[in-house]
Amino acid sequence: MKTLFNLPNEINFCSRCVMSNQRPASVSEFHHTFERKGAKYLNINKENICDACMHSEIKKNIDWNKRNKELVQLLDKHRKNNGDYDCLVPGSGGKDSAFQSHILKYKYGMNPLTVTWPPILYTEYGLRNFNHWLSDGGFDNISFKPNGNVMKKLTKLSILNLLHPFQTFILGQKNLAPKIANKFGIKLIFYGENEAEYGNPIADNNISLRDKSYFTMNNIDNCYLSGIKVKQLIDEHDFSMNDLLTFLPLQNESYFQFPFEIHYLGYYLKWIPQEAYYYAVENTGFQARPFRTQGSYSKYNSIDDKIDDLHYYTTFIKFGLGRASYDASQEIRNNHITREEAKALVDKFDGEFPDRYFSEIMKYIELNEDEFMNNLDKFRSPHLWNKKDGHWHLKTVNGIKRF
Ligand SMILES: [Zn+2]
Repeated sequence: MKTLFNLPNEINFCSRCVMSNQRPASVSEFHHTFERKGAKYLNINKENICDACMHSEIKKNIDWNKRNKELVQLLDKHRKNNGDYDCLVPGSGGKDSAFQSHILKYKYGMNPLTVTWPPILYTEYGLRNFNHWLSDGGFDNISFKPNGNVMKKLTKLSILNLLHPFQTFILGQKNLAPKIANKFGIKLIFYGENEAEYGNPIADNNISLRDKSYFTMNNIDNCYLSGIKVKQLIDEHDFSMNDLLTFLPLQNESYFQFPFEIHYLGYYLKWIPQEAYYYAVENTGFQARPFRTQGSYSKYNSIDDKIDDLHYYTTFIKFGLGRASYDASQEIRNNHITREEAKALVDKFDGEFPDRYFSEIMKYIELNEDEFMNNLDKFRSPHLWNKKDGHWHLKTVNGIKRF
């Protein structure tokens, strides 16, 4: 059967977590098109175990003392004793950026500069956590406010063309820190977890460095935003080059003039999301939301942006995997819940429509709610979805074929 987005034709579930081989690996967002040519998906081996679960096994045998020594060596190489910033931590004040920046400053004695590409639409809790991160945690911060009109138009186009409401945020979040590091002459950037832990090819996990293909570009003519070529956006959609450069990565030449390193702190320190959460509560005044996130059962993961819940609804449409599948799989791997519990949670919450902020988001991007709903169907791959009595159903959930 024909599939969309280069998805594997046969749906296969991991026997340990609740992820399937339809989970996308990271793509470089500025090459992301509707077809997703060459896209990779979560590998599940012959024993029916996915790469993310295999990696969590490997993690149990990592010598964390040795990794800690490697971290100290890296920090000592970049440490500045004259008061200058010596590393950069991007984040919006969520539990992970709070944990990273705090531990680097207060345990390892670094001088981090924090950098923020703000969420598209801050939630009340996200904005509160952001302010507490800086005031309770005690950090300098550079926040970048992109042109609101361009942001809005690109977000709308990425919904219509890619069903990807989060693209402008991801682009900013990934590209801003390298540009600021480049301008300030800071040679060390930390991101938190390697995406590989959640399903990129497992070999990516054996190094701490982020590949520069994710944050530099060598030919703007090959770059896309909202699934449309940059040139076409300028010619047909009334954007200027200046509008678009904000969302594009650092140019290769600038990188080579002032090269820097991007490391995953999760490579050096044992990273458990629930513990990062407790750490942030204790040290930077972080607060979970008092209510459950729609589409899942959690209260503290990615709660900064009103668009986040809609983002996971779109992964449910495109890949058959909603937010509960992501949250529960991660919690199985950290031994917080069993697979049976996870299956029940996925059954109950995955794909729940996120109506809490929906109307506000549509109003913000000036998209009619019906137009959004009608646009969904072209992103439903026929091998995943079945229409019965006028309603769409996933053919396979938790490894059980339903239709
Ligand atoms: Zn798995």
